[in-house]
Amino acid sequence: MRTSNWIFTATLLVSLSASAQQAAQTQPQAAPDASQAAQPAQIAQTSVAQPDQSSQPATGQPAAAPAQQVPPPPPVAAAPVTMDQVVSLFIEREHGLIKMLSNRTPVVETYLQNLSADPVLGPVPSEDHYFLGRMDMGETVDRKDYLKEQEKSMQQRLMGGFTKLYKVQYQPLGFSWMVYADRTDFDRAHYEFHYVRREFLGDIRCLVFDVTPKKDSGKGRFLGRIWVEDQGFNIVRLNGTYAPAPHNSYFFHMDSWRLNLIPGYWVPSFIYSEEGDFSAGAKNKLAFKAQTRIWGYDLKKGSKDDELTNIRVDSVTDESPTAQDASPLQAERVWQQQAEDNVVERLTAAGLLAPEGDVDHILQTVVNNLQVTNNIDLPRPVRTRVLLTSPLETFSVGNTIVISRGLVDVLPDEASLAAVLSHELAHIVLGHNLGSKYAFNDRMLFSDDSTYQNLGFRHIPEEETAADKKAVEFLKNSPYAQKLDNVGLFLKALQARAPQLGALLTTHLGNPLAENGSVIRLSALETQGPALDNTKLDQIAALPLGGRVKINPWDDKAEMVKTAPVAITSARDKMPFEVTPFFPRLARYGVSGMPGAAPTTAASTNTGN
Ligand SMILES: [Zn+2]
Repeated sequence: MRTSNWIFTATLLVSLSASAQQAAQTQPQAAPDASQAAQPAQIAQTSVAQPDQSSQPATGQPAAAPAQQVPPPPPVAAAPVTMDQVVSLFIEREHGLIKMLSNRTPVVETYLQNLSADPVLGPVPSEDHYFLGRMDMGETVDRKDYLKEQEKSMQQRLMGGFTKLYKVQYQPLGFSWMVYADRTDFDRAHYEFHYVRREFLGDIRCLVFDVTPKKDSGKGRFLGRIWVEDQGFNIVRLNGTYAPAPHNSYFFHMDSWRLNLIPGYWVPSFIYSEEGDFSAGAKNKLAFKAQTRIWGYDLKKGSKDDELTNIRVDSVTDESPTAQDASPLQAERVWQQQAEDNVVERLTAAGLLAPEGDVDHILQTVVNNLQVTNNIDLPRPVRTRVLLTSPLETFSVGNTIVISRGLVDVLPDEASLAAVLSHELAHIVLGHNLGSKYAFNDRMLFSDDSTYQNLGFRHIPEEETAADKKAVEFLKNSPYAQKLDNVGLFLKALQARAPQLGALLTTHLGNPLAENGSVIRLSALETQGPALDNTKLDQIAALPLGGRVKINPWDDKAEMVKTAPVAITSARDKMPFEVTPFFPRLARYGVSGMPGAAPTTAASTNTGN
C-alpha cells in the first residue's frame, strides 16, 4: 500500500511532457520520479504517525468520533510577542492539524473546466472533467475514486491535447495537494517565513506571511502566502504553488481555504485552481479553472466490518392498526418504504447525501405547491434530499426525490426548481418505482467507493417520456404556470453549453438531463419563452456553480447561502454553469450560528436584479 501511496504523490499535478503518456503508463517508471519529487522524508515520518495517534485517548475510534469528541488543542500558553514566536506557533498548529486529520477519509470532488476565449463572453468552458473520491489523510494523502474509469486507469487518464507536441494529464490527487502547505517538512529547516501585514478575512483578523522554500530544500516545496488567524494561530488560507517543478512536470496555482468547523481546528474545505492567460500574445497551452470541495470528514472509515454494522434494517416500523395482517398492497408499500430507507441511509453513509436539513424545507415547499394545486394525494409523504455532488442530476427512490447540489446551484429561480422536481414527482405519481430491489439488505453491502456500481435509478425511455409529459401538466396547473418562460430560458442556456459540459451533465445515479450534447429533459418547455441573449444583462438563464447551497464539510449538512445580490455589469458576469474562485466569509466556530462560513463564491448570486 505504501508503495502505491508514494507513487501517487510522485506524479503530482500536471505532467506536461511530450512523453507524458509513456511516463504515466507503468508504475515502475513513475517510481524513480517519486524519490525526487516527493520528499523521501515522507516515508520516515509516516511510520511515526501511527503510535502518536494511538496515544491520544479521545480518538480511539478511527474516523467515527463525532465533532465534539475531537480533543481541542491546548490553548496558547502566552500571547506571542515576536513574529518569530508566531511562526513557531503556526508551525506547531499545522502539525497538530495533520495529526488530528490523519485518521479521516473525507470525500474530495474536483470539477474542472478547460477554457477557450470567446470575444463577447471572455474565457468560456470548452470541455470539462470530473473527479470524485475518498481521500485517506493518514500516511500520505491517498485517494480512492468513486468513478469506475478512474479506478481502472487513473494514471492513464490523458486529457486535453492542447498542442500537437504536448499531452496534458490532470492527476485528480493534484487538486487536493494543497490541503496542507507541506505535509512532511513544514518547518524552519526547509522554509523562510516573512511577515507581510495584518488583514481581515471575513470576521477573522489574520497575520499574513510569505513562505519561500530554502535553497536546496528539495523539489515541490510550497511557495506562496499563508493567512494565520490571530487567536489560535492556525493557518486559514494558503495561496500559491509548488517549486521547483520536477523535470517535465508542472504545478498548478491554488487558493486553499479552511473553515473552523470544530473547536480549535481549521479544516481544509475549498481549493480553487486556475491556469491560463488570455492576454494578447499569450500562449495558451493550458487554460482551465477548477473547484475542489472536501466534505465528509466525520464519515466512518469504510472498512469491511463497518459496512456490516452500518446496515440497519429496523428503520421501518409497523404502523398498521392492531393485529391485522398486511394486505398485499400494504405489504408492497412497506417493502418499497424499506428499500427507500435503505438507499437513503446507504447514500448518506457513503458521503453522497446530505442529512435532512434546511434546504429540504425549501424543496419540500415547492413539491407541496405542485401537489396541492394538482390534487395529488399519495399514501406516503414525498420527501426530498440533497445529493452533495456537482453534476446536474435528479432521481427518485420510493417517495424520496433527490436533487444534486450542483443542479440547485445553477437553477435561476423557483419555477425552474419546480420544473426539475416535477419530473421526479411525476415518476412517483405514475408508480415508476425502481428501487424495490434494495429492500434486500445484501444489496446494501458494498464499499463506499463502489456506490455508483451498486446503486442506480435510471428509467427506461418510455417512463422518461411519460414523466416529462405528466410534469408539464403539473406545472401548468401550479403557481409556476406563469413563469414557465424562465424554465424555457434555463433549458436553452443548458442546451447552449451542453456540448462543452459533458462531465457536468454525466449523471451517476439517475437519468441525464442531456445526452450527446442535447437536452432531453422537459424538452417540451425548451421552446417556451424568449430567445437566449447573452448581451441582455437582465436575462439570467442559469447561474454559476456554488452560489446557492453550502455544505458543512465536517457533518455534510446543507443550507442555503445568504448573499446580497451583485449587479451584473457585462455579459461576462453571467458565467452560466461555470466555476468561479471561492471566497468564503470566515468566522470562528460557534460564532454567528453556523460553524465555519458561507462558501460564497466570487460570483455568488448574480441574480441581476
Ligand atoms: Zn426521470
